[in-house]
Amino acid sequence: MPTIFAKIIRGEIPGDIVYQDDLVTAFRDINPAAPTHILIVPNKVIPTVNDLTPEDEATAGRMLLTAKKIAEQEGVAEDGYRLIINCNKHGRQEVFHLHMHIIGGRQLGPMDVKI
Ligand code: AMP
Repeated sequence: MPTIFAKIIRGEIPGDIVYQDDLVTAFRDINPAAPTHILIVPNKVIPTVNDLTPEDEATAGRMLLTAKKIAEQEGVAEDGYRLIINCNKHGRQEVFHLHMHIIGGRQLGPMDVKI
């Protein structure tokens, strides 16, 4: 079964895509926690961080470099932002297609509270 994020990447359902290349796609979170809330996802379905393999090194690196690029595009780089990857039940992961949240545009709370 394709994930909802795979459908966005393939253009099968709408998504507010802000960046796409051969390895990753980034689109705005449908339920933003802050003025900037974008998800960076691998084009290939990798369910969780636990499923990354050495073959995925370039994709994992591209996710981080894309976060940097998007922070600059969104104008949040200087003030700062937070990158989050949730994993499985304790991490409260809801969509099992690896994704990195980039959240910024306002002062965030401390790490141990809901953002
Ligand atoms: P996580 O808890 O890390 O799995 O977060 C999943 C995120 O995906 C949540 O912040 C949701 O708001 C977001 N989300 C779910 N469905 C969509 C969608 N169709 N388009 C954009 N973001 C979505």
